[in-house]
Amino acid sequence: MPADLITDLDMIRRLAAAQHDRFEVMRYLLEDEDALTDAQIDRLVDHIAAPIIAAIDCTQCANCCRVLDVYLTPDDAARLAAGLDLPVAAVTDRYIDHAAAAQVGEWGRFRARPCALLNGTLCSVYAHRPQTCRAYPAFTPDFRWTLADLIDGAGLCPIIYNVLIALVAATDRLPLLPDDLCAVIADAPDDSGAC
Ligand code: SF4
Ligand code: SF4
Repeated sequence: MPADLITDLDMIRRLAAAQHDRFEVMRYLLEDEDALTDAQIDRLVDHIAAPIIAAIDCTQCANCCRVLDVYLTPDDAARLAAGLDLPVAAVTDRYIDHAAAAQVGEWGRFRARPCALLNGTLCSVYAHRPQTCRAYPAFTPDFRWTLADLIDGAGLCPIIYNVLIALVAATDRLPLLPDDLCAVIADAPDDSGAC
């Protein structure tokens, strides 16, 4: 388990604001870094993120379920209807706002924030939750080009904050990386990558 993980939400909010400029510097460096391909950067990010994701217990947090807008597809509505044992029309009436979603070109959005299906810090429809919930927070593919959105989320999500802090430490000497990370990003087992 990675040491020094921070999960207190007030602290995360303050620290993310304080680290914002470092995160932005990392973003500029990565966007300009021609020596590393998108796939190599994604392998590096996945390698660093995996133990952090495994170590943080989302069932003790649920902050994303409280503060984020969740956009939905017809497949999500059908899955929720099955999980809630309700007709799709009833799920739509109770939980889904089409007009608000249409303003940003989406099919549906949960009406309530915090999510009406959140029970304490647990999702009451976990096995049937929308795809957006399953994917969050997504670091790859295309970490280099989606980092701006992740930086926006660093103040609300302990996983995002801790992964970005670990990446800043790993990439602060770009294009040089420590030897162990060179092996991670190598395109073949006997390749030292771009290092
Ligand atoms: S994804 Fe982030 S904000 Fe959501 S529950 Fe997990 S740690 Fe908390
Ligand atoms: S459906 Fe579940 S996972 Fe998704 S926002 Fe609501 S409570 Fe959270």
